[in-house]
Amino acid sequence: MFIGHYGPGAAAAHRRLKLWHCFVAVQFLDILWAPFVLAGVEKVRVVPGFTEASALDLYHMPYTHSLPAALFWSVCAALVYRAVRKSAGWTGAGLIGALVFSHWILDFVAHKPDLELRFGGPKVGLGLWERRDLSISLEMAIYLSGLAIYWARSTAKGFGGKLLPFALLLLGGAAGVFSAWGPPPGSARQVAIMAIVSYAVFAAFAALLDASREPR
Ligand SMILES: [Zn+2]
Repeated sequence: MFIGHYGPGAAAAHRRLKLWHCFVAVQFLDILWAPFVLAGVEKVRVVPGFTEASALDLYHMPYTHSLPAALFWSVCAALVYRAVRKSAGWTGAGLIGALVFSHWILDFVAHKPDLELRFGGPKVGLGLWERRDLSISLEMAIYLSGLAIYWARSTAKGFGGKLLPFALLLLGGAAGVFSAWGPPPGSARQVAIMAIVSYAVFAAFAALLDASREPR
């Protein structure tokens, strides 16, 4: 799952949490995963037609996407957030931890069984990616719901603040369509680099929204 992850992030952003912090949190496991793939620590191969909605065979990612690793990184993220952003309080830090873990839950729904329940243990995944129409519909529904909540709970400071949510909507729609129907990536390295660039673009967009809108 790609775009769907941003739904919980957008819904959680409010006074305590900046939107861009939430956007980084929901993709945090993948933000770790991409450099791990580039370093050869975790492995993915591109298999066209592997599932209808994704050509990625994510056959080895214990340090970012196993259940114990996801829990570990969620707790770490919450503790670090609490330490560096005291104004968020424990509630905000807990929310950041929950957002990091939300990534694992949504990946569990989308992926074929590739998420280890324990290191070296059985792998789980409901495999919604086998059905492109269903998976993209669910992703977009989650994404749009999150954006709608963010929209309702924030107000524009000026013209840019009114316009940017539409731009984010279009960006998400385009990214969702491309991820589901676009050509398969050429290599694992290309997948990892595209992931890093995409997450940076979404975080930058969210930072622009933080600057141009304020919580209601
Ligand atoms: Zn993931």
